[in-house]
Amino acid sequence: MYDFIIIGAGPAGCTAAAQLAERGLKVLLVEKCRLPRYKSCSGVLIKKSMDLVRLYFGEETPLHTMCTPTDNRGMIFTNDKGKEYRFEQEGLNVWRSGFDNWLAGKAVERGAQLRDCTTAVFCEDRGEFVSVTLHGDKTYTEKARYVLDCEGVVGALKRKIMGRTDGYITTFQTFNRGNIELDSHYFYAYLQPELSQYDAWFNVKDELLVLGVSVKEPEKTEYYYEKFLSYMKKEHHLYIEEQTKAEKWLMPHIRPGCTVDYGRGRILFAGEIAGFLNPMGEGISAGMESGYQAAEAAASYFEYPEKVLEAYRDGTASLQSYMRRQWSFVGGIAETFREME
Ligand SMILES: Cc1cc2nc3c(=O)[nH]c(=O)nc-3n(C[C@H](O)[C@H](O)[C@H](O)COP(=O)(O)OP(=O)(O)OC[C@H]3O[C@@H](n4cnc5c(N)ncnc54)[C@H](O)[C@@H]3O)c2cc1C
Repeated sequence: MYDFIIIGAGPAGCTAAAQLAERGLKVLLVEKCRLPRYKSCSGVLIKKSMDLVRLYFGEETPLHTMCTPTDNRGMIFTNDKGKEYRFEQEGLNVWRSGFDNWLAGKAVERGAQLRDCTTAVFCEDRGEFVSVTLHGDKTYTEKARYVLDCEGVVGALKRKIMGRTDGYITTFQTFNRGNIELDSHYFYAYLQPELSQYDAWFNVKDELLVLGVSVKEPEKTEYYYEKFLSYMKKEHHLYIEEQTKAEKWLMPHIRPGCTVDYGRGRILFAGEIAGFLNPMGEGISAGMESGYQAAEAAASYFEYPEKVLEAYRDGTASLQSYMRRQWSFVGGIAETFREME
């Protein structure tokens, strides 16, 4: 019997696992992919993420997780009317495979057991404990007093537990060799409705130009992507020599009010699967903070499961209000996000 089984070795799961193992609890962290695993991401660690890494892991983000340019100097938004807003802020540029693998290693150093290539296929609250069916080389069951489901956006497991699907935004981004007349130290977000149904973006990773769009109707992905490329060619003299990679992914569709699903009984949700996500798809800080708070709540009220969800809700109250403020701020500057006002 484990004290905790944590599902998913992303920022939410790794932070929770590290925190619980640090408290001397018996923790199993399962990850369906082989680590280091790939995650579609712009890989911008905003200052808040850097601060949380320091706070929860007691170290600076290591250089080996970063790509060039290693420092991100902030975000530049262009709103629906073409007006530019600059937000200068210290940040880092990481590859998620290296960053998340480093976080998982920290959880292991603190005593968590890690099983990669292991998918949680089912999970059931049995009152005194939770049984989790795992699929790796074989299919077997483990038990824990609590489960933290940190499986990220798709939520196949959560759907089996709750029988519900949440809305998604589809993201599409390409990596390209070429040139552009923009400063590679910034992340650029474009909120014009003619370029995407949510946002379009540009940043640089290891000299590759990353161009992306997000849409509510997946069949319109290519249409918006082509519009965005034309815009970048015209406005910023984008020249693509060769496209090296293209990838589609999903993000939660955050709605006004930023509703969060904390869990049921002994099964808690953290990170994207719970609905924690900031505008422009910034979810690493929200993942780490919610993973930490879920772990703290369950560890503090270990023998009182009826109090855990309320403690988790209280622990994330400031994160939720930060999310709401941020979403209504972007709703205020761009028509595309107006429903968030
Ligand atoms: C295109 C794009 C760009 C982004 N850019 C940024 C950015 O620049 N900065 C930023 O802060 N955020 C960014 N985000 C958001 C960020 O990637 C997510 O919010 C963050 O990864 C969420 O963390 P998480 O721990 O909740 O989930 P994840 O990081 O998705 O981790 C979940 C883990 O669970 C595993 N898993 C899933 N199901 C199971 C299962 N059944 N059993 C076992 N394991 C399972 C998955 O393989 C995965 O490793 C971006 C997102 C996208 C799509």
